[in-house]
Amino acid sequence: MNPDTSTHLRTVQCGHLRADNVGETVILCGWVAKRREHGDHLAFIDLRDHTGIIQCVVDGAADLRSEYVVRVTGVVRHRPEGTVNDHLDTGEVEVGDCSVEILASAEAPPFPLDERAADVDENIRLRYRYLDIRRPEMQRNLRTRAKVNTAIRQAMNSQGFVEIETPMLIASTPEGARDFVVPARSRPGSFYALPQSPQLFKQLCMVGGIDRYYQLARCFRDEDLRADRQFEFTQLDAEMSFASQADVIEAITKVIGHVVDSLTGEKLGEVPQIAWREAMDRYGSDKPDIRFGMELVELTDVFADTGFNAFKASSIKGLRHSGGSDVTTRSRLDDLTNTAKRWGAKGLVWMRVEAGEDGSVTLNSPVAKFLSDTEKSDLITRFDAQVGDILYLVADDWLSVCHVLGLLRLALGRPPVNEGGLHFLWVVDFPLFESVDPENGRPVPAHHPFTMPNEDDWDLLDGTGQELLQVRSQAYDLVLNGWELGSGSVRIHRSDIQSRILELLGIGEEEAHEKFGFLLDAFRYGAPPHAGFAFGVDRVVALLLGEENIREVIAFPKTQSGSDPLTGAPSTIDPAHLNELGLRLSPLTD
Ligand code: ASP
Repeated sequence: MNPDTSTHLRTVQCGHLRADNVGETVILCGWVAKRREHGDHLAFIDLRDHTGIIQCVVDGAADLRSEYVVRVTGVVRHRPEGTVNDHLDTGEVEVGDCSVEILASAEAPPFPLDERAADVDENIRLRYRYLDIRRPEMQRNLRTRAKVNTAIRQAMNSQGFVEIETPMLIASTPEGARDFVVPARSRPGSFYALPQSPQLFKQLCMVGGIDRYYQLARCFRDEDLRADRQFEFTQLDAEMSFASQADVIEAITKVIGHVVDSLTGEKLGEVPQIAWREAMDRYGSDKPDIRFGMELVELTDVFADTGFNAFKASSIKGLRHSGGSDVTTRSRLDDLTNTAKRWGAKGLVWMRVEAGEDGSVTLNSPVAKFLSDTEKSDLITRFDAQVGDILYLVADDWLSVCHVLGLLRLALGRPPVNEGGLHFLWVVDFPLFESVDPENGRPVPAHHPFTMPNEDDWDLLDGTGQELLQVRSQAYDLVLNGWELGSGSVRIHRSDIQSRILELLGIGEEEAHEKFGFLLDAFRYGAPPHAGFAFGVDRVVALLLGEENIREVIAFPKTQSGSDPLTGAPSTIDPAHLNELGLRLSPLTD
């Protein structure tokens, strides 16, 4: 059922007319998508609004141009035989005997508002975003986004979550990225920060007894932009009291399930979980794209006693590109090797799998002569190598090997964004620390500093350096088709553990107090155990629509360089305004 969108100016919308409406007098409002004159006596207008296009027939010449805004009154009738248009939902009918009132004239648009717009420079589309939004694709994207928001709210409300708005002007939060700051006029020299996430406020809501909080939160991070990242983005942000990791995973899985069901009618079912270590081992990534196989093959034991120096490493793994030999030229192999080096590899060994003279399987590679016969035959068995395959090997420490082969796997096998369906995955058991800073020996947190370590690993917190890298956290990520949708964790609500973590991170009492003393204070007044999560709405919508670029699902995005061609932001401000804020511009120094 179409909603009743009649107003004092119109009775019905363009795309809603069908054969059932024949005989009705209708008043339509919209934009002229196209117009054709048939001699002096007849003009055909394709009238467009967001619901679709309807053909209107006007007696006499109509002085109209493309994108004029008009109000048309006429009678719905069957199209004459032979003129039915199967490409239009309204194609069986037209509106005849039309009288046309011009509501607004229009200049010629700077680019065609149809499928040809896809080839128009993105800066031009963004400069005239209001015209770009008239196109059916943008209408579909923005309306899908609204449906996703509605489905999220329904699923959260039905699980007892309360929608709460947290402030936009806050003190800096320790989320790791650079803050956007806003100078405070009332206190010259002081600044607000825009929230990187409502992290601390949602935890305070738990101390406040809200029990289950959520928000479609706008977040701001001053980071380098990419196709899948904007300075400002929206995330479903949630927090639950008296809840474990399993509870959060269950609640968020329900939300995702409801979103997918509402949009596609498909039932999501169980979302698989994989431990971080296994994800790295098998896919070389903490956000595996499981739409395709091509898993990493463990080879360290094959070369345990090797005489080949390049393979004397703590870890060796490989990838089999099935049938890849024919499609991979020598220059492509050189390119891949250089790319792998850029990713941090010491080198990339490749081997073509070929048929030997006696029908056996042989390996053709510049390094084959350095390998023993046993190593070669073990390799063939381990890879299940078939003639026509190409094998890639990397030797280094475990993490570097996984990292390089994980990227190579994507480069060789990843399907286009709109293929292969939706494959959600929970990645669990992340390490608490991602590395140790070689300069000061301090661990670098993988998530934010309020993430609870795995209870089984608490003892390891007394260790140092590399030992600390063994500590698992109670943090978890949701991944869709190789994109990290979001992350969350069980929080530390005990002050002894929090103090130890802050001490390990080198955040002294004074600094902790200055940055988030209010949270630590709040915890002194009875903090329930709590856990939460946040996922990016822009990314979910983009993936549901098969769009690679999240700007396609944002009404008014910034360009890759962070500017807005429509409004001119960022822009300079009036010197008087600067003065009022107590600010003076000085040349940038390094
Ligand atoms: N605040 C975190 C983020 O924005 C999510 C969470 O831990 O709830 O990534």
